[in-house]
Amino acid sequence: MRFTVIGAGTMGRGIAHVAALAGHDTVLTDVSPAVLDSALAAIGANLDKGVEKGKVAAADRAAALERITTETDLAAAVRDAEVVVEAAPENLDLKREIFGTLDAAAPGDALLATNTSSLPVHAIASAVEHPQRVLGMHFFNPVHLMPLLEIVRTADTWDETIDLARSLGEGMGKECIVVRDAPGFATSRLGVVLGLEAIRMLEEEVASAEDIDKAMTLGYRHPMGPLRLTDLVGLDVRLAIAEHLYETLGSEAFRPPELLRRKVAAGELGKKTGKGFHRWE
Ligand code: NAD
Repeated sequence: MRFTVIGAGTMGRGIAHVAALAGHDTVLTDVSPAVLDSALAAIGANLDKGVEKGKVAAADRAAALERITTETDLAAAVRDAEVVVEAAPENLDLKREIFGTLDAAAPGDALLATNTSSLPVHAIASAVEHPQRVLGMHFFNPVHLMPLLEIVRTADTWDETIDLARSLGEGMGKECIVVRDAPGFATSRLGVVLGLEAIRMLEEEVASAEDIDKAMTLGYRHPMGPLRLTDLVGLDVRLAIAEHLYETLGSEAFRPPELLRRKVAAGELGKKTGKGFHRWE
């Protein structure tokens, strides 16, 4: 199918990678030409690693790269799209503005998906005249390696829209789950509550950060402990999601711990700043 991916950052470049590798002609669009260049280079490098590891055939690598084109003009990028996946920054006004452009510029029957990890999909969908074709397609980072696709359905989303998203996800090698458009969906809601509780345990000196993480990696076979994962996601990102979930779900489980607030205020945001709950080289 003809794909357009909006935003060529961390997620958009990964989504373009898996879409093109699955055989879809893919237009990658971003406001920044420099980001588009770096996205193409990153996709090429990740495909190279796939070839080295024997997971991607050399011919498939070349074909995937040929299927990707770039475009800085959003309306031009979606003009012929059958499937649009938006991966622009996590900002409701921006996403609504983009979906308004999609409503005017994309074909009337195109599937319109957002990769938001925490915003209400129905609030984004209300920017288009026919929200029945809008849903969440929530991929995980790094997209070419993570096996899950969380499909988020609003009260308006048609069954056919869900079915198409599922078959596209499966074609990209993903396992799909379908979740109602409830705050935090399934993944963020469960992941955040575990991360916040781990921070509260650290505050209460139940154990060190290393040992709290080991409790989950060695005791429950989680691939990564909740504090290390918070460092990877970014403490600021986690705090914003916790605040949103505390506000919308009203459960004390989502009340942001003071330690998290203090670290964010001190600029200890996790891996990206070299320090969060752990130190990063
Ligand atoms: P990012 O900041 O890395 O990339 C966003 C890109 O969008 C940037 O390159 C920016 O130039 C571009 N952009 C900004 N305005 C635009 C516009 N009007 N039109 C086109 N492009 C525009 O962000 P990201 O981490 O890739 O996140 C994108 C979305 O994916 C967010 O909704 C985020 O919540 C969600 N998400 C992120 C992760 C993650 O681990 N990073 C995981 C799952 C979902």
